[in-house]
Amino acid sequence: MRTFISFAEARKTVMAAAVPLGNESVSLRNAAGRTLAEGVVSSEDIPPFNNSAMDGYAVIADDCTGAPVRLEVIADIPAGRPHDGEIRTTTCARIMTGAPVPAGADAIVPVEKTRADGPNVWIDEAPIKGIHIRLAGEDIKSGDQVLSSGIVITPPVVGMLATLGFDPVSVVKQPRVVVISTGDEIVSSSEMPGPGQIRNSNGPALAAQVESAGGIATAVLHAPDTPEGVRKTIESGTNADILLFSGGVSMGAYDFVRTELEAMGATWDFWKVRQRPGKPLVFGRFKDTLLFGLPGNPVSSAMCFEMYCRPVLAHMLKRDKDFRDLQAAILSHPMKKKEGLYYFARGIVEDAGAKGVRKVRDTGPQGSNLYSSVVKANCIIHLPEDMENPDEGTNVLIEALEW
Ligand code: AMP
Ligand code: MG
Repeated sequence: MRTFISFAEARKTVMAAAVPLGNESVSLRNAAGRTLAEGVVSSEDIPPFNNSAMDGYAVIADDCTGAPVRLEVIADIPAGRPHDGEIRTTTCARIMTGAPVPAGADAIVPVEKTRADGPNVWIDEAPIKGIHIRLAGEDIKSGDQVLSSGIVITPPVVGMLATLGFDPVSVVKQPRVVVISTGDEIVSSSEMPGPGQIRNSNGPALAAQVESAGGIATAVLHAPDTPEGVRKTIESGTNADILLFSGGVSMGAYDFVRTELEAMGATWDFWKVRQRPGKPLVFGRFKDTLLFGLPGNPVSSAMCFEMYCRPVLAHMLKRDKDFRDLQAAILSHPMKKKEGLYYFARGIVEDAGAKGVRKVRDTGPQGSNLYSSVVKANCIIHLPEDMENPDEGTNVLIEALEW
């Protein structure tokens, strides 16, 4: 097992272990938030037929040049009821929005610019040719590549898939993640802690992170700090793609996660990364299951998830990109930083000013127990290993947090 490796090496290791999952078919009603498994090419024109953009009259524009003119209304065309006949000179059809434009007609006169007169209608304003007609294929043409695989199915994507008839739709299977919080001091977030106890924040937060990254937290468990307790909980959490532990991976006398898993046959790729927060991170495998042992400090747990687990989930989900984009910014104040560790500082980035330079500041004290530093953050500031005590004005890379 490698130990005390660089962030780059640790990330490379976890990404290499992530295996893209298969696809499954789901009804479009349940597809929002899932990952589109196959690109979508339209086999149809959208709209599929020329149709009226207005409630009004389908006319021949040349008939109306001397408006006001009187035309005979030979048909009534509601939406959904195509008219078979043809519009010939001096005739027209009453037509509703979305109804197919009948043969012969080349313009729509909105009802507001007409007056009904028994079997006839007065057209008060001459239309120009083609007006208020939505042409077949003007939105999408048959053969157009409309959606790419690997995108998240957002509400507008649902609408597009529905338009094109992709229901059911092929999506990537969701990684199943079991979250196991360890610690004898931990009580459920719905309980009142006793002396020396604290509420479990990592369990619920990690489950929410898993789901915001597209996975399913199939179980959120708690293991006491005993070898048997850890083992029993692990056994009840099998059949997962990922086991996500919080706590119990450090040097403490009661940190049994590594040793118990090892005794069960797990192998470790690395333990400890030259980073802050999250130095004690451990990563390995147990059969086909990936094992992440995240340090228990809530900031470490949250940041390690973002740096390692979220990209792994993205890769399993065959997303179009595994990582968030890194953007340039400059520090608006000096920061304390040790050389030799990669820092993921919690930051607040301001909008680019007139000069287009984004400034970023930290959220205040950065201790790995200070969870409010995560809650306030709208970005993670990357401070690479070789950087020491950066000054105000230092160029840095940030990744925006959209949660
Ligand atoms: P550990 O990694 O188990 O040594 O825990 C490090 C610190 O994180 C300790 O102060 C723990 O009390 C705290 N901690 C561990 N697990 C959790 C959790 N699930 N929720 C909140 N704090 C935790
Ligand atoms: Mg602990």
